[in-house]
Amino acid sequence: MSDLRQLYQEVILDHSRNPRNFGRLEGANHEAAGNNPLCGDQIMLYVKTEEGVVTDISFEGSGCAISTASASLMTEKLKGISVTEAEEIFERFHAMVTGDPNREAEGAKSLGKLGVLAGVREFPVRVKCASLAWHTFKAAIEESEKPVSTE
Ligand code: ZN
Repeated sequence: MSDLRQLYQEVILDHSRNPRNFGRLEGANHEAAGNNPLCGDQIMLYVKTEEGVVTDISFEGSGCAISTASASLMTEKLKGISVTEAEEIFERFHAMVTGDPNREAEGAKSLGKLGVLAGVREFPVRVKCASLAWHTFKAAIEESEKPVSTE
């Protein structure tokens, strides 16, 4: 149980209860839907970019605490940075939640607050919850017309 308690840390609870950047975004020029059928998480992501920079980003949807907190933390992290940098952060985040403990520690340090999600690595089902928003972001930027599924 202590691992689970660790997983649902204060930051995760805070972001799942009070998600930041929640709601439809007016003037978004990218959007994508994401779906994690394993858990029932659904997300709609809205992104506004100008000259390669994420100027605004928001999400809607419903899901478990991990998926909501991860989407909330992601929007906080990505707002105001370049799309290229966002993609690099995605790679590091993905390595953190799926990678080995050594890389995880390294990644957690450079990812700041996103590091609170490192604990999902212990729970394979939760990795999909945590990475759903990120896969959806990638799809939105690449303007994929197919809804994202973690399956
Ligand atoms: Zn979930």
